Amino acid sequence: MSNNELTKEELLLKVKALEEVVNNIGSYIFTKDINGCYTYVNHAVEGVFNASSADILGKDDSHFFDLKVYNQLKVNDQKVLKEDVVISSEEVNLFKSTGELKTFHTVKKSLTNDAGEIIGMCGISTDISDKKQLENTVKEQNNLLDAVLNNVDAYIFMKDEQRYFRYVNDKTAEMFGLPNEEIIGKLDSDVIGQEMADHFWQSDKLVFETNEKQTIEEVADDGEGNLRHYLSMKMPYKLNEESNALIGFSTDVTELYQLKEEFKKLANTDALTGLYNRRYFFKQATKEFSRAKRHGLEVAVITIDVDYFKQINDKFGHPFGDKVLINISENIIQSLRQEDILARIGGEEFSIILPNTSLEEAKLVAQRICQTKNEFALDEQFNGTVDIKVSIGLVSMKSSDFKFDDLFARADNALYQAKEAGRNRVYVED
Ligand code: GH3
Ligand code: MG
Ligand code: MG
Repeated sequence: MSNNELTKEELLLKVKALEEVVNNIGSYIFTKDINGCYTYVNHAVEGVFNASSADILGKDDSHFFDLKVYNQLKVNDQKVLKEDVVISSEEVNLFKSTGELKTFHTVKKSLTNDAGEIIGMCGISTDISDKKQLENTVKEQNNLLDAVLNNVDAYIFMKDEQRYFRYVNDKTAEMFGLPNEEIIGKLDSDVIGQEMADHFWQSDKLVFETNEKQTIEEVADDGEGNLRHYLSMKMPYKLNEESNALIGFSTDVTELYQLKEEFKKLANTDALTGLYNRRYFFKQATKEFSRAKRHGLEVAVITIDVDYFKQINDKFGHPFGDKVLINISENIIQSLRQEDILARIGGEEFSIILPNTSLEEAKLVAQRICQTKNEFALDEQFNGTVDIKVSIGLVSMKSSDFKFDDLFARADNALYQAKEAGRNRVYVED
């Protein structure tokens, strides 16, 4: 049935029904004449203008908006009325009646008569203020997050299970030498090369397999031949029902690592001579002892004590004594091989472990040390030189030695024998 065949009552009913829809649609609906004056407004418009339909019809927007908004609205209305274009745009309107600022999505279209002439326009505006506010909040939060993530002194990234980068912060992008947008959405191997990508994938894979946080120490070349140490934490992150990803935080700990190594070295080193200290000597000696036992190898131990050193200090002063100790240690090194471990184990006492060395071979080393001239020039006050001698004890590991201390006790005793026998000599325990 076409409209032409409807009765007046039916038509009225239909208009009423349409009015009902238009008033309950949740949007602002209106029509305007060719001059921009309202010819129809629905309830929503009445509400927002805080005026009745009778007060609105026949008036233009200057009555309801401030001048600036009115002028903007007029530009769009004129386009629709003159150029017959459909306008779909976002409008921010400040209402005179309430002082409220609202954002609308508005569609405006011209109305024509049967002859096709433009006689006005209709518009439908949907209030998107809440959506807009939500968008702004999300944008603000994103900006805040970006500001934080880009200013943290760490490499932060997100990678999915298919090995695509989902996020990198500025610091990471800088390290990869590419802008963020050229990394995000790319396969790891396309960004950092297959070899490096596969290397990092080893620990990435573990995160996906275990679904647990992984802490990894990684070493990478900085491109200039220097090794940098990174402490990385990678944790699982569920992007959505189907996709798994990981978030990685990597910090450059090279300086800390170097400091740790430095401390380790200091803990093992004698400050005066730069030789290993007693602590390190016993630790290494215990290892060498076990190794030799296990493989049936020979090990020799030499202990050295400076003769009458107290007198040196007493006569020429402690600083001179220190210089002597440094020089003696340098002289001893000259007689040793790379694998021998020399340490200052006490005031003027030194010990050497000679791995893989027979008693005969070690004897030659001990004798060379004993015969090395430790001659020092004295300053003007004393004039001349002083020749400093050492006493040496030498032993070799026996099957009856259960632990390194057994071997060392015998070495100590051999040194005592050397002193007893008159000093400046090597005593070899048979
Ligand atoms: P001996 O021939 O019996 O070994 O006689 P000695 O005088 O060398 O023996 P003693 O153990 O009585 O003396 C060792 C001296 O070494 C005592 C101490 O003042 C000195 N000494 C220990 N550590 C240092 C040091 O770091 N610097 C200096 N200058 N002297 C030290
Ligand atoms: Mg001494
Ligand atoms: Mg001594």
